[in-house]
Amino acid sequence: MRVLGGVEHSRSLPTARRKTSVYASSGFSMHSRRRFQRSSAVEPRDWLYVWGWAANATYICSMKNLLLLSNSRMPTTAYLEHAVDAIRETIGDAKKIVLIPYASVTIAWDSTAKNVRNALESLGIEITAMHHFKDPAKALAEADAIMVNGGNTFNLLHHLRRKEIIVPLRSQILAGKPYVGWSAGSAICAPTIRTTNDMPIIDPSGLDALGVIDFQLNAHYTNSVPEGWMGETRDQRLAEFVALNPTVPVFGLPEGDWLRVRGDELKLHGPFPGRWFRSGQEPVELASGSVVVV
Ligand code: ASP
Repeated sequence: MRVLGGVEHSRSLPTARRKTSVYASSGFSMHSRRRFQRSSAVEPRDWLYVWGWAANATYICSMKNLLLLSNSRMPTTAYLEHAVDAIRETIGDAKKIVLIPYASVTIAWDSTAKNVRNALESLGIEITAMHHFKDPAKALAEADAIMVNGGNTFNLLHHLRRKEIIVPLRSQILAGKPYVGWSAGSAICAPTIRTTNDMPIIDPSGLDALGVIDFQLNAHYTNSVPEGWMGETRDQRLAEFVALNPTVPVFGLPEGDWLRVRGDELKLHGPFPGRWFRSGQEPVELASGSVVVV
């Protein structure tokens, strides 16, 4: 990982690890890869290898276009108001948006969609919530852009998995379809949801998420502690994560900030510096405006 024009000079995340994780998630074994390398004819079972190779190539050459917001609301502005310009820039001339509202638990999914529609009215887009489509993969393929709101990250992942949306969603993102997430909608872009702040109010049958960025996210990041608080601080919780997962950094994304991901480059925007957490190191600040190549 390299920082261009920022304060961070960190250890790199080697491409090999990225490849490994893609191979691992593409579901084909070393055995089938070796078999493929030995044989000149491609047997039907080897298409799994070809598919894995293509998935990997897509990842490496990816034209990802993501906007990952920490939160949806600032203390003095309306829902998503602080992010309208960034959303406009990310989605470009997209008109048909599919909204995945599954993070909402106590707010009906149709109400969530209505709130998002109202907040983004000035963009002149048409937002349809995913639960109105019979075929989620087709809905994703036909949409010009994808939005995923915040709420409970476990509920979001539960529904994504149950409705078999994870694989098509990941492919659309890697193929460059604009993706806008906030809070839980940002957190699911990480390899897992292990660094969400939410309670596991539902069992999502595994914590692996989209893995379209290769570090963990902690949205609404703050290390402030109310007076008299005796529980773990946020930094202590994230230090525990990297202690048990030493190869995976975590980025603490403060309120009001967002990461803009284009291909393999990401830029931090917003009023506050973010924070990298890595095993065996003190947390490192990343100034707003820094560009990181992952
Ligand atoms: N509950 C948050 C949200 O989506 C996610 C988090 O705090 O980690 O708004």
